[in-house]
Parts: sequence; structure tokens; C-alpha cells
Amino acid sequence: MNALSKLPSVSQLLAHDRIEPLIDAHGRAVITGLIRDQLAAVREAGRNGAPIPEESSLIDGISEAAQTQALPRLRPVFNLTGTVLHTNLGRASLPEEAITALVEAARNPCALEYNIEEGGRGDRDDVVEQLLCDLTGAEAATVVNNNAAAVFLLLNTLAHKRKVVVSRGELVEIGGAFRVPDIMKRAGAKLVEVGTTNRTHLKDFAGAISPRTGMLMKVHTSNYAIEGFTHAVPEHELASLAHEHELPFTVDLGSGTLTNLEHWGLPHEPTPRESIEAGADLVTFSGDKLLGGPQVGMLVGRRDLIARIRRNPLKRALRVGKLTLASLEAVLRLYRDPDRLAQRLTTLQQLTRPETEIREAAERVLPALQSALAALEVDVEIVPLRSQIGSGSLPVDRLPSVGLAVRSRGRSSGVLNRLEASFRQLPKPVIGRIEDSALLLDLRCLPPEQETDFTVQLAQLDLPTQPVR
Ligand SMILES: *Cc1c(COP(=O)(O)O)cnc(C)c1O
Repeated sequence: MNALSKLPSVSQLLAHDRIEPLIDAHGRAVITGLIRDQLAAVREAGRNGAPIPEESSLIDGISEAAQTQALPRLRPVFNLTGTVLHTNLGRASLPEEAITALVEAARNPCALEYNIEEGGRGDRDDVVEQLLCDLTGAEAATVVNNNAAAVFLLLNTLAHKRKVVVSRGELVEIGGAFRVPDIMKRAGAKLVEVGTTNRTHLKDFAGAISPRTGMLMKVHTSNYAIEGFTHAVPEHELASLAHEHELPFTVDLGSGTLTNLEHWGLPHEPTPRESIEAGADLVTFSGDKLLGGPQVGMLVGRRDLIARIRRNPLKRALRVGKLTLASLEAVLRLYRDPDRLAQRLTTLQQLTRPETEIREAAERVLPALQSALAALEVDVEIVPLRSQIGSGSLPVDRLPSVGLAVRSRGRSSGVLNRLEASFRQLPKPVIGRIEDSALLLDLRCLPPEQETDFTVQLAQLDLPTQPVR
């Protein structure tokens, strides 16, 4: 107790000349709070018999805590997982054009809902509607917070208290709790499942149509593939059937992209234009998957249906902000120039990055990693890898890539797990993956201009100590 009474008081610490710069950097309120926490922790430990620290180590503790709490929670990371559109790491990285546009919109007032020609109120959809129509062949378009919201709004607007016919093979669950049947229920629509998991025929749909049917729907099986003895009804047949019964036919494309990816040697991913041409009345798709833009959900299709969707009060609740619209507009504009798309759209740049170029990057960063890990019983080498597109796009396709593999020379795989954690603790965390007893860093998504940032901070790796044999 006596030792505890010698602890400095909050006001003594606040007046300390090593605390002053902390107050300048973080503010008096934050530092006062940290001092109180630190003193409380020391008193608690002291009561349990722990020694009372010197004032200088107390201040070290406060300084460290101040630095830690100042780090943003939403920290930039190196995505070396090999999954390009990694949902947990924020999916698509935006191209420069979009970043510039969103910074401008953030800094200044902008014509978000203002018609500059007429000097009156406008609609925020006007920012991108024409572009979306040009790029998809649709009559009208609207944008909401994400594709889950787009599907929800579509169902709630067109099929509230009505039946929606979907193939059993398409009752998709997307990571993060988006399940087609659950969304239907919440939107007030009643799901009617037809066909079987692997085969669904037009007659299955035809037999399910009743006076209470609200629409026929197709959901792109984005994150899985059903192979073997399969049959799905082509969109144009579903569209004709729906139209015979004066019902809308809608397609949830999930990822969706606005151009034919086969131009760049990538596997085919269905586009909204293809669905519209096949007769779909409305198509929904994401902005931050293959499209390479910000998080949004887009609905494109018939003018009368889009008008109904806009009148749904939930549209107001699901609308997007100006930063999103500014960056979306910039990304959509890039699609008007397909010749330069692969140079300008970051996602496409990453997906089409040649293996030889990734190998050159691996050769440039290998020495730095080898020397950073020299004290460990590990081998570091360049290995061929296969990257995934991610975000449920093209789930079975893999892109040849190159990366660095760290393998333990000893038997303990514990070293790799601890090393993987150390990479995550770097100032700009490096996220890799452990597979086949190796820590793998896929270099596809390490931009050349960030290689130095990557290698320089390796000196700060907190190396796991391993038993010396
Ligand atoms: C990804 C996906 C969604 C959800 O889109 P978000 O933009 O993540 O909300 C919905 N449907 C399908 C088929 C998807 O692939």
C-alpha cells in the first residue's frame, strides 16, 4: 500500500515534460484518459502483489497506448492473400480517376441533386443513369447501397405479398448472411422453388405460375458451380414465359461486369447487356466486384419498373452518398473506352497482370524477405501460385500467379503461424495465407510502386523466437 501511495497523481503526470508532446499530438482529453487507465491498472496489479513501476516506464506505457489508440481501425493493408476481390479486405480498389472524383466531391459542394441547366432540384440517379443505360442497353437505371439492397428493393417493390419463382439450383448464399430465401421473406415475397438442385426445366417454371405469382427470377450462381448432369433454363426462354403471363422476369447477376472479359483472356462472366438482350425486365449487380468500382448495387431495365422502384420509400433508406456516386461515375466512364480499360481499371489491371511481371516483382522483393527472416530456421523461395478472383466471381477459375513461400526447416508449424501473425502486426499489415505447411504471399496485388513500402517495413517484423536445437 505504501509503495502505491508513491505513484504520481494524474495532474503530476499531465505536467510532466515527456507527457506534454503527447498532449500536443493526441489532445488533453485522450491523454488524461490514458493516464487514468494506466494508473488504475498499476494499482490493481499492485494490490495483487506486482511491483510498482518507475515513473519513466509508466510514461512509456502511456506513450505506447497513445500510439496504439491513434491507429485508425480501418487500416490499409497489403492484400497478398491471392484473392483479388477479397470481401473482408474491401473488394475492389478504385482507379485513380475515381479517387480524384471522390476526393473532389468530399471537399466541395457538388451537383448531387441539382440540375445545373435548369437551376432546380434534380435526382441523384441522374449522375449515372445515362452512363448505365449506354453501357447495358437498358431504358433506365437506379443505384442503391449494395447488390443485396438492390435485390431486396426489387422484391419488395414488385413482389410484395406475391410469389417469386426461382430454380432450386439458384438458392444462393453469399458470404456475410445474404441468402436468397431469407431476403425474399424479409422483402415480403413468397419463394416458390422449382426443379431440382442440378436440373430445372421451363415446364417446372410454367407449372408454378399462378394468379399470385409476382415474377420469375434468375439468380446467378456466383460463388459455386453445379457440374455434370445439369440443366438451367436459358434467360430468353424464361423471359418469354414470364411475358406470356404478363409477369416481369428479373435477373440477379451478382458480380456482373460491363464488358466481355474474354477480351483479356479471362473467363466469361455474364453481363447486364446480355440479360437485357435476352429479355430480362430488370437486372441487379454489384459495383465493387468485377466491375471494379465502389460498393453499390445497380438496378437496370424497364423504365416503368425503375420508376416504381424509385417510388418505394425504402429507396430513400437505401440510397447512396455523393462519394459513392462520384467514384461510380468515374469508373463507369472508363468503360466507355474499352481499349484502355485494362490499364486504367485497377481490378482489371490486377486480374490481367502477366505472370512474368509478377515473377519479376517476386525477384525484386525476395532478397529483402530472405534477409528479414535470416535469423529464423526457414526457407524463403519464389513459387508458382494460383490467384482467385474472389467475391463469388468465377469460383472455379484460377489465375496463374507467383509469390513467396516461407517454409519452416524444423518440424514445428507453430513458427509459421506466429510469423503470419507478425506480418499482420506490421505498420501496414501484410495479409497472406498458410497452405501446405507454407506461409504464402501472392504478389499479384502488390503494386510495383508499393514494393519499397513493403520491403522497408520488413525490418520491423517481430520475429517469433524458436527453440535452438
Ligand atoms: C454478391 C452477390 C450479392 C450481394 O451483393 P453485395 O453487393 O455484396 O450486396 C447478391 N447476389 C449475388 C448472386 C451475388 O453474387
